[in-house]
Formats: sequence, C-alpha cells, structure tokens
Amino acid sequence: MEYIPFNYYTISLLIGGFTALISGIVVLIHDYRRLENQVWFALTISTAIWSFGYFFMTISEERHAALVSNWILHYAAIVIPLFYYLLVLTITNTFKKNKNFFIFFSVLAFIFILINPFSFFVAGVEPKVGFNYAPVPGQLYIFFLFYFITVVWTGIITTGKAIRMEKEKAIRLRLIYTIIFTFAAALGGGSVFLTTFINYIPPYLLILFSIYPAISGYAILKHQLFEVKVVIAQIFIFILWIFILIRVLLAETLREQIANLVLLLITILLGIFLVRSVMKEVNQREKIELLAKDLQKANDRLKELDKQKSEFVSFATHQLRAPLTAMKGYASLMLEGDMGEISKKVKDAILRIYDSSNTLTTIVDDYLNISRIELNSMKYTFEVIDLKDLVQHVIAELKPMIEKTGLTFSFNVNEEKGYMVHADKEKFKQILTNLIDNSVKYTPSGSVTVSIQKNNGKIVFSVKDTGIGIAEEVMPKLFARFSRAENANKQNIHGTGLGLFVAKQIVEAHKGRIWAESAGEGRGSAFFVELEEVI
Ligand code: ADP
Repeated sequence: MEYIPFNYYTISLLIGGFTALISGIVVLIHDYRRLENQVWFALTISTAIWSFGYFFMTISEERHAALVSNWILHYAAIVIPLFYYLLVLTITNTFKKNKNFFIFFSVLAFIFILINPFSFFVAGVEPKVGFNYAPVPGQLYIFFLFYFITVVWTGIITTGKAIRMEKEKAIRLRLIYTIIFTFAAALGGGSVFLTTFINYIPPYLLILFSIYPAISGYAILKHQLFEVKVVIAQIFIFILWIFILIRVLLAETLREQIANLVLLLITILLGIFLVRSVMKEVNQREKIELLAKDLQKANDRLKELDKQKSEFVSFATHQLRAPLTAMKGYASLMLEGDMGEISKKVKDAILRIYDSSNTLTTIVDDYLNISRIELNSMKYTFEVIDLKDLVQHVIAELKPMIEKTGLTFSFNVNEEKGYMVHADKEKFKQILTNLIDNSVKYTPSGSVTVSIQKNNGKIVFSVKDTGIGIAEEVMPKLFARFSRAENANKQNIHGTGLGLFVAKQIVEAHKGRIWAESAGEGRGSAFFVELEEVI
C-alpha cells in the first residue's frame, strides 16, 4: 500500500479503533473478574475490529481485500448490539427479567452470522463517497438494520427504566452516561448505514462512534476513577520506554546509542518514581474519600439525634409548664390569704415555693425557646407597639423583686414622646425582663438604670448597672448557648446561661441588634437592644 488517505473518516475510524482497544483493556485490567468488565471488553474489542475493518476496507486498493475486510467488520457489527444489550442488562441488574429478549436477539445475531458471507446479506463492495470501497446491501440487509435499531432501542428503554427506579445518585449518573454513549454510538454507527443504503451520503457522524468507548469506559469506571489515573500514567510511561528503546536499537553511532541508553535508564527510574507517587496519591485520596463518606454519615446521624433531642426537650418542657403554673397559682392564692389565715412560718415556706416555681418557670421557658429555635418553629406575631409602655409594664412587674434588693433603680425616658417599634410583644417582654432581671441579680449593691433613647431613626433600650461586670475574655461568648461567667455563679446559682442566647435570637428575628459593654470585672455592665423606629 503506497499511501493512506488521511481524512476525517479514516482518522475517525483509527481513533475509534484505538480508543475502543485501550478502553477495553483498561477496564479489563482493572478487574477482570467482574462480569460487566468482561462484557465491556467483548463490546470494545468487537468495536475495535469493526473500526479497523472499516478503515482497511475504505483504503483498500483491491476489491478482494476490501471484501475480506467487509466480512470481518460485519461479523463485529452483528455482535456489537448484542454485547451492548448484555452490558445494559448487567449494569442494570435486569438480565433475568429480560432473558427472553436476549435469547431472541442472540438467535437473530446467529442467523446473521451464518448469512454474512452470502450476497443476499452484503451484495459486495464498491467505491462510494470518496472511500475506495464501501458495502452494497443485499436483499436481506434491511433486516440487519431493523435488528440493530430494535436492540439499541430496547437497551435505551431498559436503561431509562433503571434510571427512574435508581435512588443512588452515583449509580444514576453512571446510567445517564450509558444513555449518552448509546446515543453517540447509535448516531455514529447509524450514519454508516446511510452510506451503505444511500450511495452518495458519507457517514458524517462517524466521529461520534469513535468517541463512544471513551465516554462509556469512563462510565464503567466512574466509581473508581482515581485508579484510571494510575493506569493512564502507566500506559504513558510504558509508551515512552518503548519509544526510547527503539531509539537505542536504531541508533547509528555508538555515542548516540550510549546517550539513548542513559536517557532510557533515567526515564525508567523517573517513570517508576512517577507511577509510585501517583499510586500513593490515589490511595490517599481514596482513603480520604472513604473517610469523608463516613463523616458525612456520622454527621447526618448527629443531626438526626440533635433534632430528636430538641423535640424531646420541647415535649418535656411543655409537659412541665402546666403543673408549674398550678403550683404558682395556688401558692399565690395562699399568700394572698384566699385560703384562710396562715402563720408567718407557713407563709415564709410558701413564699419560697412561689419563688422557686418562678425560677423554674423561667428555666423551662428558656429551654422551650431554645428547642423552638433549634427546630425552627419559633412563631412571631409582629405589631407596632410603644416600647416605653412595654418597659413600664415590665418594671412594674419586677418592682417587688427590685425593692427587696435595696438597689437604687431609675428609669430614664422622655414621657412626652412615643417610642414606636415593630415587635412581638410577648417575646420582647421576655427579653426586657431577662435583661433587667440579670442586672438586678448580678449587682450586689449600687444602682440599676434603665433608659430608652432615640438615635438616628433607631430606638435604643439600655440597662446599666454597677454590678459584678463582665471580664474581657467572657465578652465574645456572652451571647452563646450555656455561656456563664465564673463570677456569675457566685452571685446567682440558678442561672442557665440560656437567657442571653435566646434574647439574641429573638432580637435578630426582629432585625435588631443586641450587645453588651463593660469596663471589666467588678466595674458594672450595660446591655443594649436597638430596633428600627416606626414612624
Ligand atoms: P443566666 O443569667 O441564667 O446565667 P443569661 O444568658 O441571662 O443566663 O446570662 C449569661 C451570662 O451573662 C451570665 O451567667 C453572666 O455571666 C453574664 N451576665 C448577664 N447579665 C449580666 C450583668 N448584668 N452583669 C454581669 N454579668 C452578666
């Protein structure tokens, strides 16, 4: 053969042959015991035989050689759809279900194999569309086209069904790749039928048929892609060695031979080093992948447990509230003398019950709020309110408690003005109570000053005290869950460290700001809440 006409078609066929060959071998080497890899190998080898067969037919100088190539390529063409269908059945795990289809297609393939050498299948070969030779269909060839279309279509439907049923993303993706490669192969291969049947149309889409083994090989190994890297590195290094070895053998002078030999030694050493490091990297990555999967699972489980915990806390605290309210109610009735006269001693005892159930109610409310925040089920009913009225109301409620402590208490506000804000009244009442209550609790002696001010379209509520103050290192985590400073424990042993966390969540849900200031331990504290003013 003097020259090979390299054009789009012959190059497509060569690329197709080699990609099929490499793809088949890579997958088989990867794990030859797997059935799907064996089927894949059979499919790619027949694809390679077809591609090379077609290539030799188109460039053949002699009719007889072209005819032989044509027979060979048709044997391959007959089994390609069959192996493709078997591959689909293997990777979708539906062989048993579709066994009869497979047997039927196999019988058809067998008949075509028997009639392949006869002229009623392929009548012969003749020059077409720039090819030296291309097949001419015999009377029965049309049945081969039907067979091809039916098998491929059945495969596509089977894969489509499996995609719909499959829940795991990775496997679905793999099946989607399979559909893509089927279309590429069917369109590419189908275009060759056009040339066979209609003499003047060349197989424009042939390149699609050539690249399909690459797409599908990728799909087959999708779950072990990293290892493919190693194989590719190995193939590359191996080709390099062979290339340099040939140079050694073909060297014309001794000097050249020695130089090439040294080069060969270096590339062998470097190659081994390269492959090893790629392998190491791949192993590490695989380990990390596994670890990441485990972590993901553990994380999901923790999230689930956390949710269950929040639900449990929500349920339990809810159940605690009703008896607490009853205890408080009856204690208050007794204290007010509604149950008849009681001695001072009993009164003191009941007062303690009353105070304790009050503390307990606050704690239960805090936990209830926390679980609502965690479950995202906190409900707000916003309305426009005058903050001044709300603060006055809270102070009136806390007054008996404040008076007991003997602290100097003052409330600075401009009585003439309105301080309108958009807020959930009940929740805000809770925050203000908590902040004033904290200042009173954490101030052994001195004063507590509450004020409301307007500042650039904002309303700022503040409560300042001369109490135990907040150390600098406590400041950053003050509003975190369960955060309690050491000095706080001495002053108030009943605290939960939840009040400020809840307050921050609620204020943020109001699109407002909450913060604290303190000159340090023992030097008093100030808490601020800022909301947009409603005009
Ligand atoms: P609790 O008061 O139940 O411990 P909070 O969330 O209301 O929980 O407060 C968290 C912590 O913030 C307190 O334990 C305390 O250390 C600190 N803190 C809050 N208010 C004051 C204040 N006015 N003065 C000093 N420290 C405070």
